[in-house]
Amino acid sequence: MKKETICVHSGTYRDSATGGINTPIFTSSATSYLDRDRAAYPRYFNTLNQEAVVRKLCDLEGAEDGVLFSSGMAAMSTSILAFAGSGDHLVLQDELYGGTHSFATSDFGHLGIGHTFAATDAGAVCEAVTDKTTAIVIETPTNPLLGVIDIKKVADFAKTKGITTIIDNTFASPVNQNPYLLGIDIVVHSGTKYLGGHSDLCCGAALTSKKNAQRIRALARHLGGSMNATECYLLERSLKTIALRVERQSENALAIAGFLQNHPLVKRVNYPGLPGFPGHAIAKAQMKAFGGMLSFDLDTAHVDPDRFVRRLKLIRPAVSLGGVETTITSPALTSHATISAEERQRIGITGSLFRLSIGIEHVDDLIVDLEEALA
Ligand code: PLP
Repeated sequence: MKKETICVHSGTYRDSATGGINTPIFTSSATSYLDRDRAAYPRYFNTLNQEAVVRKLCDLEGAEDGVLFSSGMAAMSTSILAFAGSGDHLVLQDELYGGTHSFATSDFGHLGIGHTFAATDAGAVCEAVTDKTTAIVIETPTNPLLGVIDIKKVADFAKTKGITTIIDNTFASPVNQNPYLLGIDIVVHSGTKYLGGHSDLCCGAALTSKKNAQRIRALARHLGGSMNATECYLLERSLKTIALRVERQSENALAIAGFLQNHPLVKRVNYPGLPGFPGHAIAKAQMKAFGGMLSFDLDTAHVDPDRFVRRLKLIRPAVSLGGVETTITSPALTSHATISAEERQRIGITGSLFRLSIGIEHVDDLIVDLEEALA
């Protein structure tokens, strides 16, 4: 089936009691243990509502099995810890989402896990591997600089060394990029973003093989970051429109990137869809469309960033991303605030950098809003 069809139909529970066409919300946290391997229980990650969403997401990513979590960070930290313990070494891309980055710098030390950060480049990631490396963690496009890394190159190299690969696929969404099909072992999403898509859910997913999913689920049962039935239902409902939403968001973002690139008060635009952007050729090869996220640097000699953001009328300043509404954020003040100022400067996340999460509004209205605020 094509993605649009998977979005609507895959995983739906056929309700024989009513003949209803939607998965019912099964609220019982106490269920019978008779005549079954294991009773359904939310923290066992085996309820009908969880399984309906996992099926849809696996079909969208081309993965075999998966685990649904109560946040993207639960999905990422549980996946990492399932494949790294004391004495092991991890290679992580240094441009990772701030939460994953600070998980490594704050917690790996006392867990006895060594790590090396590498640039957003397949060669640099592969070179950082040691004989103790058990997992590689990458992200593409990155948050917030939209850096692009060659997924297949990293996956192929890791396979020759028996190293587990984990990717944060949040920015691309399963509509635009399917790393499992390119050889990555575990695809992680912050479902809070495009999967939920309406800025009203917090959830995450790890999508992978049956064998890896079992290993992640076993640890997840102890760490406990499970999702409840009502939120699973809302996520399942949201996923029915993700292909349409992301298609429109990608079209809008491409147009807005072009507008900003030609604006005299904008110094630099980071968007993989722009032909001059460093990661453009790789992104073109591994993505269906370039997604709804972009970032740009304002010329602070001529425009006050705080004043600019307060002058926007339609575009809302907000953390998070991937919703139907367009939002703007300052990564230095939000997602990357926990990283030291020197580290932020080194990576290129300055006070003049803004990240836009483009929604499904009419693009003309968004451009007028940006134009007027810049004016
Ligand atoms: N990955 C990316 C790219 C993100 O932007 C975020 C959150 O902003 C996360 C992971 C973490 O997800 P959550 O906030 O759902 O835990």
